[in-house]
Amino acid sequence: MGEHAAGGSNNTGKSAKKTAAAAKKAEPVKKAAAKKAEPVKKVAAKEADPDKPVARKAAAKKTVPAKKAVGAKRTAPVVKKTAAVVKKTAAVEKIAVEPPTGESRTALVRRARRINRELAEVYPYAHPELDFENPFQLLVATVLSAQTTDLRVNQTTPALFARYPAPEDLAAADPEEVEEILRPCGFFRAKTKSVIGLSKALSEEFGGEVPGRLEDLVKLPGVGRKTAFVVLGNAFGRPGITVDTHFQRLVRRWRWTGETDPDRIEAAVGALFPKSEWTDLSHHVIWHGRRICHARKPACGACPIAPLCPAYGEGETDPEKAKKLLKYEKGGFPGQRLKPPQAYLDAGGRAAPPLGAA
Ligand code: SF4
Repeated sequence: MGEHAAGGSNNTGKSAKKTAAAAKKAEPVKKAAAKKAEPVKKVAAKEADPDKPVARKAAAKKTVPAKKAVGAKRTAPVVKKTAAVVKKTAAVEKIAVEPPTGESRTALVRRARRINRELAEVYPYAHPELDFENPFQLLVATVLSAQTTDLRVNQTTPALFARYPAPEDLAAADPEEVEEILRPCGFFRAKTKSVIGLSKALSEEFGGEVPGRLEDLVKLPGVGRKTAFVVLGNAFGRPGITVDTHFQRLVRRWRWTGETDPDRIEAAVGALFPKSEWTDLSHHVIWHGRRICHARKPACGACPIAPLCPAYGEGETDPEKAKKLLKYEKGGFPGQRLKPPQAYLDAGGRAAPPLGAA
């Protein structure tokens, strides 16, 4: 900016020369920027899976710098700035996919899939723990489950659905009556507003049916991507990753991703697994988080995936003490096959085999 102002003050000839020189100088930079922008465009296009709106949004964002870089009117400083943006975007993308443990991408994928296979054996019947009989009930129950337990929701919803069985019934409900029913779930005023609001939207815009598309679901009051994927995965059989608090905690402990934003976690973890496994994967991870890998006291000494976990030792490693931390349902895990914790440890009491060797 400063250079241009100085050059154009008195001498027009000089200024023209300078501009021509600057333009010439800018040419290779422009070409370099355009060249550099190309892979980003390719990655963005690759990620723009129509079933992955996050990726599509990210892809749309990423293509902007690429277009700017080849813009004919750009002067050198702008082109340089654009190139920097492209570089920065690429760096952000790199962080999103680079395994924080330093293990190779292939080893990370293999370890992640092995963890999922192990968990599938431990929790063969993993499923959403909310009670529901149709997509509407699942949608409402999932909205109600925010900041409370599934058990509490399951104790509340029978009365709600008995009184208001269909979206039209709940849409026309007296908010005070609904609030009374929902009081045990916490945040009952906000939740009442959401479930009545979404019931109105279902009645008015979707003929009283729950839509089976992500883009429609997330427009409903109180419905975010997490809720939408629970509904899509479990009521419509469409694969989706549910990034709840357990999922976020566990994938970070396992170093599947260093991301902290739920949408980016969803994209990063989704890239490690075939799409067909996303829904079951979500159940396995969430079940493990609820039963063994707790937020404050993970039961590492009784954990079936200890050899695959970089966070082994974050919780109690003594097998006997760890066993006491497990949260069993009545009668134990369905299909449970927890081996004795010692089976996962080497002679020194450490998780074996070494991480990354999977
Ligand atoms: S080893 Fe510990 S931190 Fe790792 S998954 Fe098991 S319980 Fe969680």
